[in-house]
Amino acid sequence: MIRIYKPAVVPEKLAQDGKKKRRSHCSTYSRNPDAYQCGDKTFSFDRSIYSHESVKEALIKAQHGKCCFCERLIGTDGDVEHFRPKQAYKQANGESLQRPGYYWLAYEWDNLYLACPACNQRHKQNLFPLKNPAKRAIDHKQDVAQEQPLFIDPGKENPEEFIGFRSEIAFAIKGNQKGKVTIDALKLNQRSLPEARLQRLQLLRQLHQVVQLAAEQPENAELQELAREAKDSIEKFLQDNAEFAAAVRCALHTQFQFVIG
Ligand SMILES: [Zn+2]
Repeated sequence: MIRIYKPAVVPEKLAQDGKKKRRSHCSTYSRNPDAYQCGDKTFSFDRSIYSHESVKEALIKAQHGKCCFCERLIGTDGDVEHFRPKQAYKQANGESLQRPGYYWLAYEWDNLYLACPACNQRHKQNLFPLKNPAKRAIDHKQDVAQEQPLFIDPGKENPEEFIGFRSEIAFAIKGNQKGKVTIDALKLNQRSLPEARLQRLQLLRQLHQVVQLAAEQPENAELQELAREAKDSIEKFLQDNAEFAAAVRCALHTQFQFVIG
């Protein structure tokens, strides 16, 4: 995961239609909160607003076409994911689903990211653990700023301060709880992710070796040229738009002290 910088200007669709919908959800909820809390009534959210082409495009651009959690390149195939779940939430896997969810944030720019289907639909789903569940905002009259989420919010904090990598394996820096919960819940060390990171790191190490070799043979012009190209490629691997940039940065930062493949 890396920090995501979304433009401050809210996409028009959310600012107009989203705002209207939000107002309507809040007033229907206020008329009968009990019915929403017991699940007799549920909200029907308008996907054509939060998943509108313009919203998706803005997210793709801000996230360089990558999943906000696993850093896989997904291009236009990603889902618009709600950081705080809109319909219902769970404090932990295996616990019951609580209703309603964060209905008032369904069309909020701050609450939206682009995620791959595996991260969004299979792993995160309705999970939204808090350090202190008693402080959870349960309706629009309460303030989510009082919450201490255990998922890293990549639009508000720098994930690289919480999650580091030993070679292809993610770990929580100094055992921090937020990093640990995010890695475990989103299965960042499972699926095909470690394998995909490893492939990238192996390539990176080869490039790094060329650079080192060239430093030892300054008179070899051909090698110097290869080293220049290798440095350019390494530079590209480090950028925000590169797949698995966080793992690549850790590998270079530690000079590959962790054995790679
Ligand atoms: Zn993902």
